[in-house]
Amino acid sequence: MDNGKGMDYDKMHKMLSFGFSDKQTIRGHVPVGLYGNGFKSGSMRLGKDAIVFSKKANTMCVGLLSQTYLEKIKAQDVIVPIVMFTKTRQTISAAPEYAECLRDILTHSLFQTEEELLTEFNVIKRLCSNSSGTRIIIWNLRRTSSGSSEELEFDFMKDPNDIQIRDDANKRQTRKANKRQPGGGMSVPESEYSLRAYCSILYLKPRMQIILRGLKVETQFVTKTLAKVYRDTYKPVGKEGITITFGYNTKSKEHYGLMMYHKNRLIKAYERVACQRKANNTGVGVIGVIECNYLTPTHNKQDFDNSDEYRKTMLSVGAKLEDYWKEVHYRHNTNCTEPFEDTVKTPDQNWVQCDDCMKWRKLPDGIDAKQLPKKWFCHMNSDPQFRSCSDEEEAEDSDGDQPKYQKTYKQQERHQKLLQENRQQSPSTPCSSVPMTPRPSDVTSADTQDTSLSTTPKRKALKWSLENPETKKARKKAFDDQVLLFSHASDATKAEYKDIKTALNDDGDDVIDKCMMKEEQSNKITPTSSKDQQNYKVLYLQSVEEIKQLQHKLKQQLKKEPKEEVDSLKDEKNNLLTSYERLQKDLEEVKRENEKVMFHCKMTNLVFEMKGKGEVLYTVVSWDNSQLQGTGQFQPAGPLYSIKCSEGSVLYLHLPHCEIHTDKNQIELAVAHCSEGNIEILQPLKVTSTHVIIEVQHLSLFGLLKKWIFQETPISAQVLLFYQKMQIRRKLHIHLLPGNVPIEEVQNQHKGNTYIQCSAICQLTPGKKYRPLCEPYVCQPKAETFGCNYGPNYHPTFEVILNTEVEDLTLGLLDEIGQEVWEPRQVFLTGSQEFIFVFP
Ligand SMILES: [Zn+2]
Repeated sequence: MDNGKGMDYDKMHKMLSFGFSDKQTIRGHVPVGLYGNGFKSGSMRLGKDAIVFSKKANTMCVGLLSQTYLEKIKAQDVIVPIVMFTKTRQTISAAPEYAECLRDILTHSLFQTEEELLTEFNVIKRLCSNSSGTRIIIWNLRRTSSGSSEELEFDFMKDPNDIQIRDDANKRQTRKANKRQPGGGMSVPESEYSLRAYCSILYLKPRMQIILRGLKVETQFVTKTLAKVYRDTYKPVGKEGITITFGYNTKSKEHYGLMMYHKNRLIKAYERVACQRKANNTGVGVIGVIECNYLTPTHNKQDFDNSDEYRKTMLSVGAKLEDYWKEVHYRHNTNCTEPFEDTVKTPDQNWVQCDDCMKWRKLPDGIDAKQLPKKWFCHMNSDPQFRSCSDEEEAEDSDGDQPKYQKTYKQQERHQKLLQENRQQSPSTPCSSVPMTPRPSDVTSADTQDTSLSTTPKRKALKWSLENPETKKARKKAFDDQVLLFSHASDATKAEYKDIKTALNDDGDDVIDKCMMKEEQSNKITPTSSKDQQNYKVLYLQSVEEIKQLQHKLKQQLKKEPKEEVDSLKDEKNNLLTSYERLQKDLEEVKRENEKVMFHCKMTNLVFEMKGKGEVLYTVVSWDNSQLQGTGQFQPAGPLYSIKCSEGSVLYLHLPHCEIHTDKNQIELAVAHCSEGNIEILQPLKVTSTHVIIEVQHLSLFGLLKKWIFQETPISAQVLLFYQKMQIRRKLHIHLLPGNVPIEEVQNQHKGNTYIQCSAICQLTPGKKYRPLCEPYVCQPKAETFGCNYGPNYHPTFEVILNTEVEDLTLGLLDEIGQEVWEPRQVFLTGSQEFIFVFP
């Protein structure tokens, strides 16, 4: 239940209707969570039936999305009964046009009377302060078969205030990306199996109160749970830079990696970056928190689209995480015997959320967040500045956290290098970086204010030509003295001074040259008066002051510039690295094209790309469905192959799929790699219209998977016929199978029977019923649901009993509503084509 704005009839209709998605039509312009397929696929993933109550002002709507109901009424389309109740004065009633829907809801849901339905609206009214909100009830929850018994997919018993994914820890696959510890020893982050833990980190900055099974979820401000926090920035190409917060996990050093958010919502948790996957301990315990609004999440929001931008981000942020790790180790390197990740147990800061206004407040150091009362409110704050709910929230980095930390471990060499470069460059440096010198008194005040550091040389020349020879001479002398005074300054400073001096002497302007000549002449002839001396003194002092300022500025610049420059260079380097990587991939592909040997198995449609010639043995084995439970939302989408050959000889494997891709469906395919009781989900390199291509590292079991979707989508299928001659009777076996089941496998189970070749291909929808057309003969059963059987045992879907020798018959396949899905055709049962397949 939520206490949101509630929905009226139209909105609920949009939410529950299939094939309606605002999100797809104007992708990217609709806020997250607004009537996509999320509710439909999400709720139907959890259970067979769902009912939605929503209250908005005086209208109350109830809608039923129920698979049980659709099965009962034998619906051909998805029907979603929705009833709207309206409150007028004291009575709440539904208009007559909803009568039929109301009857259906009362017959097929958990609620048998109108009063029972209205009670649910009262719950919304009672619990939501604004008296509007939405309440969803899902029942007939999904069950999974483990061994012989069926049990609920989720564990409601283990913790009365939580919903957990069943704990078959040894079966739970450890994701490929997180493989570092030797098998078995690694613990799974709590958020992977506990809904409570997941909800606590679901939002980057939690603003919502979540109550799970009667108990408030203690939300976490993830960036504030870390220790030794530093911030870095990453600048995606053409976008504004974003902040990455790095720090140590203070709860468990075993769970580390990137926490990736999109518009405040968690997409990926503990996603390890390159350096954290290596077989050393680089990056252990380090968490990076990043909000990537510029990336596109996949429709189930568990991943990002694998775009160039995504890969670039991972590469660059990975490099920054490594920097952070090195920096922290550099700084804390003092006689440390214990690994650093073992020493960080408390977060840098303590933040707490007000249970009333939901604002986050920073607690003073030394307060233990664990000692705080369960319910905390702003008025309990010891900081008077933020002691009321009406006070603004404190900025996250208000306390002088460096917005960008200094990578000191690199600074030293950076500095050295820069000094060297400065020395080499100085003689030829244009005078653009030369500051203006003080103007003599006869120059207008507007000009005196111009102390900009980047005046163009031309403008400068013009101004300088206004100086009289005396002042210029004084300025020169003062400058020379100053250089002497600062003769102990660093080389770089001296080099900069030299620049200024060069600029003073060399203006490249005729007027100045003439002035200089005149100056020298007058110097020889005219003795300096005491008034002049006074002037010189003033000028001298001015110059000293200015040069001091100059020196300060230079120092500042030296401090600032290298860091920025190096950062931008680093970004550039990362970009280059990405391009380099891509080029290398292209090159590898070209190489692969040239060197590879492709084997296409005609029987199974498998394709092996091999290093050279070699022997490959493969068989179809049985899927272990209980193993797949741990993988989340995957179901088999093809046979599971056991593949054997000499290690390293197979480079790429193409597995045939039978999905029909259209613009409307987005079927996510992956490949399961099973070894030693573990399942690893491999992301395909490429999905073609017929195959899924993966890179092969170790051989064993491979099988195609697809994301579980509640959407009736046809796949390409095949109708296989086997003719059996018995003593008196004849039988025709009909198999309805997914298109990527090898015929050979089925033939193996029909030894002695004749395989009748025909145009077998058709499109069938898993879960829908089909019946063969074979009149006047009898077929049993009359109709059957098409399921995705991937072997290795294949039982006939239908049998047609033929009492006598029949030469041919007309055979077709109809769907539930009698439409032809496999056109009736003449099938010859006897004749010249007859031969028997025998397989060893
Ligand atoms: Zn408050």
